[in-house]
Parts: sequence; C-alpha cells; structure tokens
Amino acid sequence: MTDIDKLLAGFAGFRAERFATDSFRALARDGQNPRLLVIACSDSRVDPAILFGTGPGELFVVRNVANLVPPYQPDGLFHGTSAAIEFAVRDLGVAHVVVLGHSSCGGIAALAAEGGEARDFIGSWMSLAAHTCACGGAREREQASIRRSVENLSSFPWIAERVAAGELELHGWWFDLEEGHLWRLADEGFTPLA
Ligand SMILES: [Zn+2]
Repeated sequence: MTDIDKLLAGFAGFRAERFATDSFRALARDGQNPRLLVIACSDSRVDPAILFGTGPGELFVVRNVANLVPPYQPDGLFHGTSAAIEFAVRDLGVAHVVVLGHSSCGGIAALAAEGGEARDFIGSWMSLAAHTCACGGAREREQASIRRSVENLSSFPWIAERVAAGELELHGWWFDLEEGHLWRLADEGFTPLA
C-alpha cells in the first residue's frame, strides 16, 4: 500500500464510521464555534485532537515549527500564525488559547545545534526562540519558548483587552511525549497538570 493509498483507506474508514455519526453535517450547516485555540508544533507526534480526544468543531488549531507565537507586528507581511490567532480570538471569540509545546522538539533542538545546513525560512522563524539557548537542557529551552510565546500573545492588544476583561485565558502547556504527561506554565515554573 502506498502512502497515498493508506490515506485514502483511512478516509474510507472515516466516511463509513464517523462522518454520519459525528456532527459534521450540523457543523457544515451551522458553522463552527470552538471554545479553544491550540497553538501546537507541526511535529507528527503531537496532534492536539489525538492528545485531547476532541471531535470536530471543538478545537481551532494552528500548527507551526516549534509552536511559536511571534510578537504583535502588524506590518503588512505574511503572518500566518498571527492571522490564525486573530481569526480565533476576534472572529470566533474563543475563551482559551493553549500554547502546546512538547519534549524532543526538533525545532528547539536545532537552535542549540551548531553548524546545521542552511535553510531558507527555518532560521529566521526559529530566531523567535533564540533567547532560550542559554537556559539549560532541551526541556528548559522548550519550556522557556512556551513562556515567551504566551508573553507574546499578550502583546496583541485585542488579546490583552480580553484577558483583562476576563473573557480569555492564556495557557502554556508542555507535553512530555516520553512519559505521557502534561505540564502547565505557572508563576513558579512548569508544574504537573495531568
Ligand atoms: Zn516540536
């Protein structure tokens, strides 16, 4: 079975088992109204819908290399992550934003690696997390990057307003994919959550 055949077999199973029973038709008719935005890594091992057992319509998800949030920078350039955040917060009115990082993150590891091959886009994207290089091992760098992304969320004025009004909560979570546990960002650092 080729890679594409495998996808199509999976889709056939989805059509047979889930399409009719899950709420796809109602969601298509009524539109989506997710309560949560999750900003996760593109890493193939950390799919939010799998981790949290959510169904269609429940999570608005943006995934990028190393789950980074850039600072608020409305300069007319191509800010895909910021556009997704804006749509989720201002148009969908989500109540929670979760920045979901993870252990063994290749993006964060690349920051600490010396002399990697030149890339066209990854270097400038990962410079958003360059401050994390000085703070210890992989776990510390991954968690420092999540903290910075949550701080950057607060630099978006319409996020800061909604947080101040109690309409929106920001969360920084780190998934330990070796141990299968979830940690949350707190004032004193990352603490076990689940
Ligand atoms: Zn990652």
